Amino acid sequence: MECQTVQTQLSAWLDDELSEATGAMLTAHLTSCEACRREWRQLTALDAALGNLVAPVPMGLAEQVAAKVRRPRRRSGWQSAALAACLVLGIALGGTMARSFYGGAAPNEAGAEVASLEVFHDFPQGSLGAVVASYQPEEGNGNHQ
Ligand SMILES: [Zn+2]
Repeated sequence: MECQTVQTQLSAWLDDELSEATGAMLTAHLTSCEACRREWRQLTALDAALGNLVAPVPMGLAEQVAAKVRRPRRRSGWQSAALAACLVLGIALGGTMARSFYGGAAPNEAGAEVASLEVFHDFPQGSLGAVVASYQPEEGNGNHQ
């Protein structure tokens, strides 16, 4: 095995990417070749140094990340507020429109409820709806004997 071939394969050997047979040939070469042994030592030293390397953290990174995490939440808060406003507006408009739909005759909320329920009391004669609407449980129908 030539020195150039050995030295191009040292990195792969360090990463455990070579077969056992190739590794054995490299080991045999390193025991007899000082130049390749020096190359191997430099490579392992560099690998160890890179493994211990700690990436420097930029100043204020934590604050920047926290700000970016907070920003979408604020936006979703605005969306919730807008949704709540739409709901309130819809309920208010719905109430106003319902009151004008029923002629505005209802003097209070209870009256409005009665007015709206009366719409459903207009059933054809003899239909099930007419029977249900005419049913009045308070009067009793002879269950007590
Ligand atoms: Zn060599």
